[in-house]
Amino acid sequence: MLQSAVFLDRDDTINKDPGYLSDVNKVELLPGVGEGISFLKNKLNLKIIVISNQSGITRGFLTESDVDAVNSKIQELLKTFDVEIDDFFFCPYHPDFDPPEKVECRKPSPKMIFEAAEKHSINLKRSFTIGDKETDILCGKNAGTETILVLNGKNAEEIINLKNGEFYPNFVADNFLHACEYISSKIGDFN
Ligand SMILES: [Mg+2]
Repeated sequence: MLQSAVFLDRDDTINKDPGYLSDVNKVELLPGVGEGISFLKNKLNLKIIVISNQSGITRGFLTESDVDAVNSKIQELLKTFDVEIDDFFFCPYHPDFDPPEKVECRKPSPKMIFEAAEKHSINLKRSFTIGDKETDILCGKNAGTETILVLNGKNAEEIINLKNGEFYPNFVADNFLHACEYISSKIGDFN
């Protein structure tokens, strides 16, 4: 049977983003994220998959192993909450530096979500995307998932852009736990 999943943006959705994060000592989970991911996976039985643009790689600010090290650090921090992320996908490319066929993975393209869905047998119609940026919402919509924008107190511009466009998210959450509450209520509707 196909599973439901939550596709998570990484920077500024699950961890604080100092910009092109490469130092594992600067990895810090945002409030409620550990509890929230544990709830989604251990209580609601959802797959948890990170979908991240990491153009800092092609820009030369960090390496793929830096991204892997940060991801491992996130897993380590999540151990306190008795949970692990199931998989991480990232796109290292950017249109300013790479040919279109490589940039194809970059959000808002749904390519990474499609890849994850194939690999983990996921039903996208019963899945969710959480992010702090318009590109995350577009990516989730393009993949056919429900979409949740997390505000974390600082996304007035994103909200305005999204409200003016046709791609308003299914839900606007004040923070990560608020997003989890929404998912919990929707999962009931799916069954
Ligand atoms: Mg982000």
